[in-house]
Amino acid sequence: MGKIILTGDRPTGRLHIGHYVGSLRRRVELQNSGEFEKIFIMIADAQALTDNFDNPEKVRENIIEVALDYLSAGLDPEKSTIFIQSQIPELFEITSYYMNFVTVSRLQRNPTIKSEIQMRGFETSIPVGFLSYPVSQATDITAFRANLVPVGEDQEPMLEQTREIVHKFNSVYGETLVMPEIMLPDNQACMRLPGIDGGAKMSKSLNNCIYLADTKEEVQKKIRSMFTDPNHLRVEDPGRTEGNPVFIYLEAFATDEHFAKYWPDYANLDELKAHYERGGLGDVKVKKFLNRVLEDTLEPIRARRAEYEKDIAGVYDILKEGTRKAREMAAETLAMVKGAMKIDYFNDPELVARHQEKYGN
Ligand code: ATP
Ligand code: MG
Repeated sequence: MGKIILTGDRPTGRLHIGHYVGSLRRRVELQNSGEFEKIFIMIADAQALTDNFDNPEKVRENIIEVALDYLSAGLDPEKSTIFIQSQIPELFEITSYYMNFVTVSRLQRNPTIKSEIQMRGFETSIPVGFLSYPVSQATDITAFRANLVPVGEDQEPMLEQTREIVHKFNSVYGETLVMPEIMLPDNQACMRLPGIDGGAKMSKSLNNCIYLADTKEEVQKKIRSMFTDPNHLRVEDPGRTEGNPVFIYLEAFATDEHFAKYWPDYANLDELKAHYERGGLGDVKVKKFLNRVLEDTLEPIRARRAEYEKDIAGVYDILKEGTRKAREMAAETLAMVKGAMKIDYFNDPELVARHQEKYGN
């Protein structure tokens, strides 16, 4: 069996540098490694609607934004199948069967769902669609028979839920579904990149993001305004690097080559951190360095985006073709699922023959 990847994003806004280090950068590397038979990248619009059902325009408008971000970050439609979730009805059919394997209390215990419920003020009345989106995520992963899912840390409970469903389904109906593995970023900083406000997670819903499509000026302004160590008032004061988003971003993006290129006073991040912690190093200098480091990543992304923006119809064609291909695979899996569940009545001549015999005709 070949190696298959599935991963995706909700079209609730443009993609930010948290998405980039948490998942997107990895996807591009895996895509270019040539080690994978198939790579599926899903724009999860149906999932986005579970908590944005009252704002369909937002979801509709952001599909093209996410697609442009994908292409500009280096996803290549020749190698990766980019598709739109809602256009594949087979997924919803599979989900309805998986629901039999999941209890309401199990969904309520999912820590990511718990914190998202709180963030969205759903405590007193949770939409069923929202509560059950981990089940639909299990479908997304298994419909494409993915064995590898490269995502950020917040997706860990979703993968656990998926693995449980796969295990139960296969135990009851026989080996049918592929057991997926999660692939987390290898660097702690990338697991859950904080917001520029120091908030625990950079998130489209929290308005604390540096977007891949931000202009050079916007990025500069955001970095200047970034939260650092609130007790680091004067340059000579010792500063904290732990939990300081400026240093966390450097951990996620800065390499020793960046130091050699832009700040040769330090060989690496450890040396810079030591100086900051000793005192005598101001935030402004560190932020300037961070800005240069980020621009090394963002500048080529911006340039590719400008090219793709010139041919929006072409981008929609990429999505249409990707969706067509993805649907073929989901349909195959649905047939396998229905076969395993013995609900393939019209594809089973033996069933008819047996019942004919039972009734003597
Ligand atoms: P929303 O607020 O609408 O949920 P989001 O910013 O959380 O948006 P998603 O589309 O939910 O983005 O997440 C897409 C992918 O990006 C997932 O794999 C997730 O783990 C990863 N991701 C999102 N935010 C971060 C972050 N701050 N750090 C690392 N990875 C992240
Ligand atoms: Mg999210």
